Amino acid sequence: MKKVFQSPGKYIQGKGELSKLGEYISVYSNKAVLIIDGFIFDNYEEQIRQSCKIENLNIKYERFTGECSKVEIDRIINASNDMKDIVIVGIGGGKTLDTAKAVAYYTQSPVIIVPTMASTDAPCSALSVIYTQKGEFSEYLFLKSNPDMVIMDTDIIKNAPSRFLASGMGDALATYFEARATANSNSNSIAGGKATKTAIALAKLCYETLLEDGYKAKQAVENHVCTKAVENIIEANTLLSGVGFESGGLAAAHAIHNGLTAIEQTHKYFHGEKVAFGTLVQLVLENESMEEINKVLEFCESVGLPITLSDIGISEIKEEEIMNVAKLSCDVNETIHNMPFEVDCEQVYAAILAADSLGKNFKIEKMNLDIKLQVPFIRKQDHYQY
Ligand SMILES: [Zn+2]
Repeated sequence: MKKVFQSPGKYIQGKGELSKLGEYISVYSNKAVLIIDGFIFDNYEEQIRQSCKIENLNIKYERFTGECSKVEIDRIINASNDMKDIVIVGIGGGKTLDTAKAVAYYTQSPVIIVPTMASTDAPCSALSVIYTQKGEFSEYLFLKSNPDMVIMDTDIIKNAPSRFLASGMGDALATYFEARATANSNSNSIAGGKATKTAIALAKLCYETLLEDGYKAKQAVENHVCTKAVENIIEANTLLSGVGFESGGLAAAHAIHNGLTAIEQTHKYFHGEKVAFGTLVQLVLENESMEEINKVLEFCESVGLPITLSDIGISEIKEEEIMNVAKLSCDVNETIHNMPFEVDCEQVYAAILAADSLGKNFKIEKMNLDIKLQVPFIRKQDHYQY
């Protein structure tokens, strides 16, 4: 049996790591092209320039224009044509990083990835998602290898809005359940072989870390501070989930996410938010125990992740729309067919509605419990007033 495990060459996480960027680049070359988000460039330019100056590096700065498109990739390749033996560095959000990976792929250069938030599991993977200039999905670019280095500066990530961190937790939530389903069906992972024990163990650790530290981390980041829980969640969202999904496998949760994107109202919700609801639907498809489902519902509620259709913008349920989501989720190329049993669109349709109902009831029960807990307090207040 062929098993495959892949991962980034090096993962570095810590306070102020961006200021050591020059040192990290110099491991590979003294020349680099930096592709940077405008916001980051405006706020951290001095820090980046200083660290590259100390190492005497020859750097070309390219401000990312906002779309990971073939046009943008070609623009940066052309701009770096006069430099040889370069390192490509991407600093910013997912699309900036995907552009950097694609430029490195075409110029056959090493690539350093510096995410400025922990909102998805994409940074560590050997994959770029290419869009048209209008922002529509165009193609997946499968890279020859994972990034040479991934650097997470906790100082920058703690300052990003907490919704990004929560969204990353939604993406990471699916990792264990999808890897478990892929292993149970003996399907191949994205890495192109069966999952190793290593990948499954990392996916499980990812889920356990979310349950243990998710709520605490969300609270800390709301105050823009970094605690041990925040550090653990950054690692879970980026490294554990990144390696877990790529070498462990995807299944129903991500396929349902992809189907949900056909409904326009969901577009303002992040990838990880829709994946969280997709995870709940997968658990219903699997007919998991209420104990497991409640654990996931409780976790999602505690960090502000969606558990109902209306939480992802679908306030009016239209049968044909949901059926369309189910059909798209069951496309022949979708990862839903990594589930350990046959799945058809009728089952997915049913699971979406049942998951929505479980989410709604969970909210009602929680609200009732909150009211009950408040009653003695209100009475006590009344007593003092009269
Ligand atoms: Zn994902």
